[in-house]
Amino acid sequence: MILPITAYGSTILRKQAEEITETYPNLKELISDMFDTMYNAYGVGLAAPQIGKSIRLFVVDTSGFVKKGVQDDDLLNFKKVFINPIIEEESGNNWLFNEGCLSIPDINEDVARKETIVLSYYDENFNFFRETFNGKKARVIQHEYDHIEGKLFVDHLSLIKKRQLQNRLEAINQGKIHTDYKMKFASVLKKRR
Ligand code: ZN
Repeated sequence: MILPITAYGSTILRKQAEEITETYPNLKELISDMFDTMYNAYGVGLAAPQIGKSIRLFVVDTSGFVKKGVQDDDLLNFKKVFINPIIEEESGNNWLFNEGCLSIPDINEDVARKETIVLSYYDENFNFFRETFNGKKARVIQHEYDHIEGKLFVDHLSLIKKRQLQNRLEAINQGKIHTDYKMKFASVLKKRR
C-alpha cells in the first residue's frame, strides 16, 4: 500500500525516533508499504518518520540511482531494511554528493559527508549485523539515519544557502507544490487538529 509522504515542516520529521522490538505491530506489512511508497516516488531510501511513524526504521534500494543514469552495477542489488541502526564510526574524506529528499520535493543540493561508515543494525528478521559501507551506499544510509535523528539534509547546508532556499521550503510547508506522489503537509495537519 502506498502511504502519503510527510512534507518538510511537519514536527515528526524533527523528532528523535524510538527504537522498536520484534513485537512491533504489523512490522512486515509496514516495511512492505514503505518499499511501495518509496518506489512509487522513485526514491532510493525512505525513513519511517516520512510516513508518519517516529520509529528507528528505514528502507533503502539504490537501484533507483542506476535507473536515473548512475553507472554502478554495485548499486543494483542493494535493497535493505535497517532497524535500530547505530552509526558507530564515520571516516574518510568529506565528499560532496547532490542530495534530494522525498519530504523536500524539487530541492537538490550538494551535501558534504564522510565516505565510510560502520553501522550496526537489525534486519527485517531482527538478525544483528555490523557492517562497513562506502560511497553512495553509505551516503543513502547517512541521509536516512539523519531522518530518525530528526535531521534533514538541508540542515547540512551553509546559512547563505539555507536563506536562499527559505521561500521554497516555506512553500513546501504550506503545501503549495505539486508532486506526482501523495504528501501530507504540516499546514493541513494543523487545520485538522
Ligand atoms: Zn530524506
